[in-house]
Amino acid sequence: MRGQKATRNGTDGIKLVRISPYDSRTVHGFEKRNSKSGKERTGKIRYKGMIVAAAAIMTLIFACFGAVYFLMGDGTGNRQEISETLKGKLSERKVQGPVEVPKEEVVVLADEQHTPRVAIDPGHGGWDGGSVRGDILEKSINLQLALLLKEKVQALGLEAVLLREDDDTHLSLEERVQLAQEAKADIYVSIHQNAYDSKDVDSVSGIETWYYGDIQGSRRLAQLIHKGTVEKTGARDRELRNTDELYVIREAAVPACLIETGFLSNEEECMALASPEYQEKVAAGIAQGIDYYFNPKTMYLTFDDGPSEENTAAVLDILKAHDIKATFFLVGENVAKHPEMAQRIVEEGHTVGIHCYRHDYKQIYASVDAYLEDFQKAYDIILETTGVEVQLFRFPGGSINNHNKDVYEEIIARMTENGYIYFDWNASLEDAVSHSDPEQLVKNGVESTRGRKKVVMLCHDIVYNTTQCLEDLLDSLPEYKMEPLTPDVKPIQF
Ligand SMILES: [Zn+2]
Repeated sequence: MRGQKATRNGTDGIKLVRISPYDSRTVHGFEKRNSKSGKERTGKIRYKGMIVAAAAIMTLIFACFGAVYFLMGDGTGNRQEISETLKGKLSERKVQGPVEVPKEEVVVLADEQHTPRVAIDPGHGGWDGGSVRGDILEKSINLQLALLLKEKVQALGLEAVLLREDDDTHLSLEERVQLAQEAKADIYVSIHQNAYDSKDVDSVSGIETWYYGDIQGSRRLAQLIHKGTVEKTGARDRELRNTDELYVIREAAVPACLIETGFLSNEEECMALASPEYQEKVAAGIAQGIDYYFNPKTMYLTFDDGPSEENTAAVLDILKAHDIKATFFLVGENVAKHPEMAQRIVEEGHTVGIHCYRHDYKQIYASVDAYLEDFQKAYDIILETTGVEVQLFRFPGGSINNHNKDVYEEIIARMTENGYIYFDWNASLEDAVSHSDPEQLVKNGVESTRGRKKVVMLCHDIVYNTTQCLEDLLDSLPEYKMEPLTPDVKPIQF
């Protein structure tokens, strides 16, 4: 249990069964109207009235969660706490509405001058055993996991500082933070075990990870460690949560998180946590999170078919809030319609590439000359509008498609001769070919990365649902650092 938690009303924590971020979002207060352009579609939304109904349904859903939570609470909860918890849940959830601007996350990268140092804090120790089950003490499990983690962190080429090396040592919370600071740790990872004190103890198990949201990078660190540990152990994914009540992660002054790797109150989970095999998995999961924290994979977000007025603006707002640069393969005709949006893309530091002038497969791929003529037109209007001499491009439909079989080889040869570089993609939201809702788009995006180290993600900034899924997509991919394409990036080509 979290020794550092200031116990309020006698509770040790909020025992809320984790709810997937999407569970409550099955209601979308809009309908779609499609304007066709080739095979790709633009979603336009009518809110009127529907949002009121959606809000009413959301309220009902949360009222139900409230009742369930109250019934299965830890026996010490009161109504005040419950409503606060639900308020917290509501504000965390991204419901339809204006884009919520999250805190900027910092990606700390390993470099050659400085080897990142990880402070590993095994919770409790000395007279403070933490949670107990029979002769199994939380402080000992925490230490065993910490020792394993130290080895794994060192094997990654990182430095590890263990805040206590034996079970007899007791450290105050202030001493822990001070030790980490003196050691010049770059991140702080606290390891704890949970306990549930109610009659039905065996019904509760799984992993919870806590962070303090005001320290930049903490959320990402917590996400990665949580994700890694859930993946490696197969344990129940309870929740990832922001709190200001845990001293060590609040005061650490560096990105920090506290993971409760399981419940000693649950018989099965307690036995697992005490076994070397399971401990190995837990430590491997935490180590994987730490590895991705310092050595993220790379993703190039690419947006085709724009600019459009509202949807491109929404995409740009989200990218700006996250300090992410992406790549936009523009359609010349749309640049002519929304020149200010093309200019905004450039002003905000994104890479601009050419998709085509007119998104009409038959016309573009009628012949090599037809393609080159369309491309030149797009080049000219982008240069005229933004001042950018574009070097990167993406074929409508990708470099090899059903429309260009007879001409693509020669087009590629001619374009390459002229110094242009084309990018296909190796992951996709499938947002232009389906009517999928935002949660399905996120799923498509995440699954199609297949864990690759370098991903070029195909998205469409003219699709409304893409703007609605982008926050969740970014939140689902903490192991990736987002970069804009440049001529120096080795292209992904079919
Ligand atoms: Zn396209």
